[in-house]
Amino acid sequence: MQPEPQFYNIINDELRGSESTHRVTDPRTGDELWPCPVATTQDFEDAVAAAQKAFTTWSQTTVPERQALLLRLTGVLAAHADELASILMKETGKSKIMADIDVQASMGQCMYYAHNALQDEVQHEDEHSRVVATHIPLGTVGAICPWNFPLILSNIKVVSALVTGNCVIVKPSPFTPYAVMKWVELSRGILPPGVFQVLNGGADLGAAMTEHPGIAKISFTGTIATGKRVMAACARTLKKVTLELAGNDACVVCADVDLDRVVPAVASGGFFNAGQVCVASKRIYVHESIYDEFLKRLVREVDGKFGIQEDGYAPSVFGPVDNKVQFDVVKGIVEDCKNKGYDIVLGGKTEGLGKGFWLPPTIVSKPPEDSVLVQEEQFGPVLPILSWSDEDDVIRRSNLANAGLGASVYSSDLAQAERIARRLEAGGVWINQPERPNARAYFSGIKDSGFGGEMGKQGLLSYTYTKCLHFPK
Ligand code: NAD
Repeated sequence: MQPEPQFYNIINDELRGSESTHRVTDPRTGDELWPCPVATTQDFEDAVAAAQKAFTTWSQTTVPERQALLLRLTGVLAAHADELASILMKETGKSKIMADIDVQASMGQCMYYAHNALQDEVQHEDEHSRVVATHIPLGTVGAICPWNFPLILSNIKVVSALVTGNCVIVKPSPFTPYAVMKWVELSRGILPPGVFQVLNGGADLGAAMTEHPGIAKISFTGTIATGKRVMAACARTLKKVTLELAGNDACVVCADVDLDRVVPAVASGGFFNAGQVCVASKRIYVHESIYDEFLKRLVREVDGKFGIQEDGYAPSVFGPVDNKVQFDVVKGIVEDCKNKGYDIVLGGKTEGLGKGFWLPPTIVSKPPEDSVLVQEEQFGPVLPILSWSDEDDVIRRSNLANAGLGASVYSSDLAQAERIARRLEAGGVWINQPERPNARAYFSGIKDSGFGGEMGKQGLLSYTYTKCLHFPK
C-alpha cells in the first residue's frame, strides 16, 4: 500500500504542520481524503515577516534572473506532473485528462512569463527630456484562490507576482488545498526563502490577508459576493486589488452555422469540467430557425457521456461537482427548474447518484429569461437553451447588468460574428470556438465579473508600480 501523502504549510521554505487539520471530501466517492494542516495566526504572521525580509533582496533581482528561476519552477511541475495530477484528481474529482490539463497549462503559464515580461518603455522624448517608464514590484502579494482549477488559477498569480519581483503567499481554496501545497513544497530551494509560501485556511485566513498591512496586493479569484468583501477590506489599507469573479457567459448561435461542427463545440463550452469553468458558456441563445435541430443534436451529443465512476482513470467525460456547497447550489437550480415545470430535455436527476457529488448533465429548453438558471451563474452541469430571431434582441438579452466575464458567438459569416462579438459586453468574446483563456492574452471581467485582470503582458501591470524616470537632454 502506498504511504499517505503528507501536506504542510510552507513558511520561509520550512515545512510546518499544525495542531488543527481538516480533510477534504473526495467528490467521486464521498470518502475523506488526507489531513491538511490549517495555518494559525502565528503561521500567517511568520509568513508575512519572512516575505517582507525576502523582498528587500528579491525585489532587486533582474527580470532575466527571475525568468531563469521560473524555468526551474516549470521543471518542478514537469518532473512531478503525474504526482500532482493524481492529487488533483482526488481533491477535485477530475479525470486524469482534466487533471493533466491543470498541470500542463500551469507549465505553459510559467514558460510564457519565463520568456515575456514588462520592459522599460520610453514614454516621451523631445529636445528637452526623455521619460522612461519602469515597472517596480509592490511587495508581498496575497493570492486567494478558488477550487475549480486549483493549480492554473493559483499559478497565474504566483508567476505574475514572481516575474515582477514580488513575494507571494498563496491561499488555496480549503476545498482543494493539496496539489498547491505539494507544488510549493516541491519547489523549495529554488527561490530565496520567504519568496514563495503557501498557507491553508478558509474565509478567516483570506480575510486576514486582505486586512494585513504587510500585504501590498490581493489577487483574488472567486465569487462576486466574496470579491466585494475583499475589495472593501483592502480599501482600509489601500491595497492594490485584482478581482477575477463569476461569469454568466452568453453563447450566441446564428442561423447559418455548420451544426456538425458547432454542436460539439457548444457542448464543450457548456459542459467542460462539468460546467465548473468561470468562462463556461452558461446561457445558449440559438437562432429560432435552427433551434429544434440544434437541441436534438445537442442532446444526442451529450447523452450517454455520464456515468458514475469512482476511478478518474476510466474514460468518462463528466466528473462530479467539486464540493458539497457547490453541489447543493446546482442541485437547487435543477430543483427550481423542476418545481417550475420547465422543459428538461436531458438529465434532471438529483437523487440516488452515489455517495459523491454527482449530477448528470442537464439541458433545459427555453426556461423564462428571468429564471434563476438564466440570470444567475450555475457553475455546474445544467444548461439553458434559449432562442432568438432578432440580432438586437439577442444582444440585449445576452448583456446582463450583473456579469460580463466571457461570451461566445458562432456564425459562418465572420462579419456577422465580429459585429455581434463587438456588441457583447464581456471581457473576452470567443468567435466560432468555446471560451478558453489563453495565458498570452489579457483576461478580465467587466461589470460585476471583475476588477482589473491577469494574463498576457498587460496582466503584469497590476503587479507593479509604474515609475517614470525623467532624464534631461
Ligand atoms: P469563493 O468566493 O467562495 O472563495 C474563493 C476564495 O476566497 C477561497 O479561497 C475562500 O477561502 C476565500 N474567501 C472566502 N471568504 C473570504 C473573505 N471574506 N476574504 C478573503 N477571502 C475569502 O469562490 P469559490 O466557490 O472558491 O470559486 C467559484 C467562483 O469563482 C465561481 O463564481 C467562478 O465563476 C469564479 N471563478 C472566476 C474566475 C475568473 O477568472 N474570473 C476563475 C475561476 C473561478
